[in-house]
Amino acid sequence: VEERFAELKRRLAEIDDLHMAARLAAWDQQVTMPPGGAAARAEQLATLNRIAHEKFVDEAVGRLLEELGPWEASLARDSDEASLIRVSRQDWQKATRVPAELAAEQARVHSESMQAWAVARANADYAAFRPWLDRVLEVKHRYIACFESAADPYDIVLDDFERDMPTADVRRLFGRLKPVLTELAAAATDEVQSWEAGPWPRDPQYAISLEVIRAFGADERSFRLDPTVHPFCTNFSTNDVRLTTRYGEKSFHGTSLFSTIHEAGHGLYEHGVSPTLERTPLRSGCSSALHESQSRLWENVIGRSLPFWRWLGPRMESHFPGVLAGVGAERMHRAANRVRRSHIRVDADEITYGLHVILRFELEQQLLFGGLSTAHLPDAWNTAFEETLGLAVPDDAHGCLQDVHWSLGLFGYFPTYQIGNVLSVQIWDRLLAGVPDADERIEGGDFAAIHAWLRDNLYVLGRKFTPSETIERVVGGPIDPEPYIGYLRGKVAALG
Ligand code: ZN
Repeated sequence: VEERFAELKRRLAEIDDLHMAARLAAWDQQVTMPPGGAAARAEQLATLNRIAHEKFVDEAVGRLLEELGPWEASLARDSDEASLIRVSRQDWQKATRVPAELAAEQARVHSESMQAWAVARANADYAAFRPWLDRVLEVKHRYIACFESAADPYDIVLDDFERDMPTADVRRLFGRLKPVLTELAAAATDEVQSWEAGPWPRDPQYAISLEVIRAFGADERSFRLDPTVHPFCTNFSTNDVRLTTRYGEKSFHGTSLFSTIHEAGHGLYEHGVSPTLERTPLRSGCSSALHESQSRLWENVIGRSLPFWRWLGPRMESHFPGVLAGVGAERMHRAANRVRRSHIRVDADEITYGLHVILRFELEQQLLFGGLSTAHLPDAWNTAFEETLGLAVPDDAHGCLQDVHWSLGLFGYFPTYQIGNVLSVQIWDRLLAGVPDADERIEGGDFAAIHAWLRDNLYVLGRKFTPSETIERVVGGPIDPEPYIGYLRGKVAALG
């Protein structure tokens, strides 16, 4: 048995190495590669991913997983060994359902469709993108047909990001949130304080962003911060985390601060996974929603709190003395929390953000299964947007073309953003039971106990358990929107 397990681990480690090499090539593509490298890099990425996929779906891996079944049953369910066998078996069964030709076809369609989307968005030209969206939907339906029919067909696409989460749960959650968010969005304002316009030079943005994430625990031994166009976080091991950010010089909200904190939240999660899971498929965050719960916890629950601004305010003023002289922590905190209706999801505040997500969740179900033709998508979007956010959509670049996700076939991804917001507050409430003086610590710039609690209760688990099991372990129950609703109501009341 030990020999078979060692053989499984050896194979999984090799596959992990290939995935990490692909990630490194992808990081380089978005951070340092000159544009001329694009064509060759696409081939290199395709080759690495194909070899990793072939090695994983190999029948020998399936045989090892089957032979290890009795041994797995004799082990504690939460042991690293039993978890590795159990989760790898689920991954293997899922991966072997999809024929290699279809996987290759999807990769090709998505890569071309993404390029077509980028051009279409730049020109606000939906008609140019529509044939690509039709092709993406066509291959997605072929992908869905590879799986046994689920209670709800959307379950199959959601499972790619939230293992075992029923769509019915998401509908119930969003059904509870939508009227509350709509009501709270009435607090929206157009008030902008004059200092917010800057100027915000780049060097102090880098300095303050780095100072903040270092204080959170993103130490220089394991974290890098580099500029890019669309910020993201990736990592090649628990001790090699790459954060990226962008430096807007024209507005307070456009500075690198919040996007850096957001990506650092993702990075701290990956960094905190147990070192015993290194070079296995368990060495990463549990799911998209749990990942987002951490980026949002650091960005919003901590990074937009008043204690945080009492700590950061004077530091901000010393980095931007001209702009922030005499502004004070309270007004910076107020600007950081302004509720404002806008067209673009990634620019949205904490209240209206959820409405952007719920709209996409509803529309993508209609596109996939509800008979909404791609010909009518812009109309359907614009009507729904005006109903939920009260704004007319000026063009499709500010409407249905704004996000990259659909061009990449990432249906089922959007809801996880909002589920992450809900979880961030549930987890924070639980953390307060273990770190009752968290607010005072934040105000003093001491994030060590907060980071340690999150690491020991969540990060360390990696991908050992399903999202619902992980949530149960961390917060002691299922997803619950009420703490999040209470948090938002409290914020609106305090700032009102
Ligand atoms: Zn994120």
